[in-house]
Amino acid sequence: MDISFSGKRILVTGGGRGIGREICLTLAKCPQVTVFALSQGKTHLDSLKALAPSVNIVPVDLADHEATRKAVAAILPIHALVNNAGVAHLASFLDMEMDAFDKVFEVNVKAVFNVSQVVAKCMVEQKIAGSIVNVSSQASQAALQDHAAYCASKGAVDMLSKVMALELGPHNIRVNCVNPTVVLTEMGRLGWSDPVKAGPMLAKIPLGRFAEVSEVVNAVLFLLSDKASMINGITLPIDGGFLAT
Ligand code: NAP
Repeated sequence: MDISFSGKRILVTGGGRGIGREICLTLAKCPQVTVFALSQGKTHLDSLKALAPSVNIVPVDLADHEATRKAVAAILPIHALVNNAGVAHLASFLDMEMDAFDKVFEVNVKAVFNVSQVVAKCMVEQKIAGSIVNVSSQASQAALQDHAAYCASKGAVDMLSKVMALELGPHNIRVNCVNPTVVLTEMGRLGWSDPVKAGPMLAKIPLGRFAEVSEVVNAVLFLLSDKASMINGITLPIDGGFLAT
């Protein structure tokens, strides 16, 4: 099955590292696609650009709402958007501080709202049949120790996405989520490198392993593409069966 993004302008947030970087690198290999990678730090974006010179880089802090709106407005129209940037702050519920909780919500939830609003307004104005994929997590639906802010933020992403699917569907804009289990990127290693912690999690995954970055990339690109033209408002687990048990 060939997926084509020919003629599309695609924005990926958190494109500098991890899953977002691989999404950008895969898209950059597709013919006639214009890829925009948005991230906070210039270092990761510069190294991405060195690997894939056709990728356009957008360095901006998603927690700065005005700067983000300006940066995204400058690259419109966007036909497809992947809200992938995310942060985790691990602390027990009793120890979690408000500042850390806010920081997680700034990037994981409010940036999804902010970027999507700018992109979707233009899609509606220009009658673009758009697609938005939000990178959520299995943690949106299953409680994880020390992940209060992260789990709550991903639960919010799932429901924000469903309301977006409801309201943007009539404009021919689809909005979906992918919900991966642990993927051993930098963020994944932060929480799951310790075998004592990883073991019980692995035991709850029927396939008995964590997800590869490419397995998340494939699902994102499918939902982003016209091959998923009747799929709207879903939360797709990429979890080896974790949520089924
Ligand atoms: P990662 O390797 O830590 O990369 C996160 C990316 O987000 C980086 O490019 C980072 O930019 C960017 N970012 C963070 N804060 C930002 C901000 N304020 N402004 C702009 N960019 C910002 O993470 P990952 O593992 O690839 O995760 C990607 C997504 O998958 C996240 O939404 C995460 O919640 C979700 N997810 C991950 C896992 C996992 O186990 N890894 C599992 C389920 C879901 P810089 O490079 O500039 O720092």
